[in-house]
Amino acid sequence: MGGKKRSGSSDGPGNVLSFDLEHWHSATLLTDELTDAKDRIETSVEIVLDILAEHETTATFFVVGEIAREYPALITRIADDGHEIASHGHTHTPLFELTQASFTEELDASAEAIESVTGHRPLGFRAPNFSVTPRTQWAFDALLETGYRYDSSVFPVKTPMYGVGNAPVHPYWVDRNSPFEDSRSVTADDLLEFPPAVFHPRFRVPVAGGFYGRILPTWVISRGIRNLNRRGIPATLYFHPWEFNPDVQTAEPTFHKRFISFHNLDQTRETLETLLSSHEFGTCHQLLERYTGNAGPVPSPRKER
Ligand SMILES: [Zn+2]
Repeated sequence: MGGKKRSGSSDGPGNVLSFDLEHWHSATLLTDELTDAKDRIETSVEIVLDILAEHETTATFFVVGEIAREYPALITRIADDGHEIASHGHTHTPLFELTQASFTEELDASAEAIESVTGHRPLGFRAPNFSVTPRTQWAFDALLETGYRYDSSVFPVKTPMYGVGNAPVHPYWVDRNSPFEDSRSVTADDLLEFPPAVFHPRFRVPVAGGFYGRILPTWVISRGIRNLNRRGIPATLYFHPWEFNPDVQTAEPTFHKRFISFHNLDQTRETLETLLSSHEFGTCHQLLERYTGNAGPVPSPRKER
């Protein structure tokens, strides 16, 4: 089941594990393709909670607000297991389709939906489709105005759908004048950004999860995490609970879309278990505490080699 678990430091987890909780059929690639999408959300979450409990790991669940409204008991169940509940928008609409005003409404609505279930306003946000780019950088103003403390939406690799190719690969405080640059002068009152993990600061192959987590051999992901950790950089990983549930597979979409959505779904559990056995993970909140607890900027990553 993988190598020796790295010992965690006393001041927080080495890495972030996160799950985006949405209906499997609301993925952008699938949503227009299906005529009969069965609801698999509860069984998918149970699979993931079992794995996390077995490995005594807590994670951040970025939950769509509408899901929190529809499945309050499910969200309570996740929170009761010690996991963090954060926001994945209210309707899972990518920011490319929103304005600053309608995004602000999304943030408030999802925060209220989550608070009504957990009793706490969420501290963090992840945009559907990592849709925070220079085109939508008003997102940071909206996040701060609505009381969010961290974001995990800036994908530091340019892909056809999203990403910012030169954004930092390590967590950084966001300077709203130059939100995709590392600004050391900003302090803990600002928004902390957790970029999804890449293989190496100079070889920006995404190893953070999702499709990449299913197509890459597990050792490549593990090596990527080590490449970052060796430089003092925590890796942020993301999965979707439905990726652990092969029952979601359906023949309806085109081959290309099926491949991206369903490739290796029966391997995901083993991949995650291997990673959990080899690395230390925790929630975004824990890392946020560690950085704000230091009352200053995120420690600079060690020199790149
Ligand atoms: Zn999503």
